Amino acid sequence: MSDKIKLPESQDGTIVFNLPFNKDLKDLSNMTPIVVKRPYLIEYIYSYGEYSPFFAGLTNGIQLGTHCDNCNYTYATPRMYCNECGGTNTWIKLPEEGMIHTFTVCYFGSEKFLPETPFILALIQYPGVNTLFLTRLLGFDVKNPSLSWIGTKVKQKFIRNSKLLPTDVYYIPIIK
Ligand SMILES: [Zn+2]
Repeated sequence: MSDKIKLPESQDGTIVFNLPFNKDLKDLSNMTPIVVKRPYLIEYIYSYGEYSPFFAGLTNGIQLGTHCDNCNYTYATPRMYCNECGGTNTWIKLPEEGMIHTFTVCYFGSEKFLPETPFILALIQYPGVNTLFLTRLLGFDVKNPSLSWIGTKVKQKFIRNSKLLPTDVYYIPIIK
């Protein structure tokens, strides 16, 4: 009966067949080291802190920036404290439309984005906003980048299932 008790076999991990092994245990200290490749995942908990409203906005289809009531400087990429005067900033809704200030086509990226290359990153300029916003640009022919794209009017679009990441928002051309 007891020989029927065993752990279930699984298909994960490193499955090895026929690894040579000297059963008389001689020369084991001279054995060639085994080298394996395994995925390595770390999950960690972190806080968006005072930038949480930015991500809550993205989840609700609203892109927020910040504004300094002291010197009137406006930030497309939110900053809680004003780089110009050191004042405390307040949240504002960014214009839904802007224009391409500049762009680049990425043929390389971090592990997360590598499978999506080539893709376009653009800096978006907004009326009445002092800084730019770096974002993904869709709807342009990535194989034929053109300087004529600069100045093109674009609008926000949001992924439907928010991931609470800055990539929840991206920009597409305004087609009239
Ligand atoms: Zn200021």
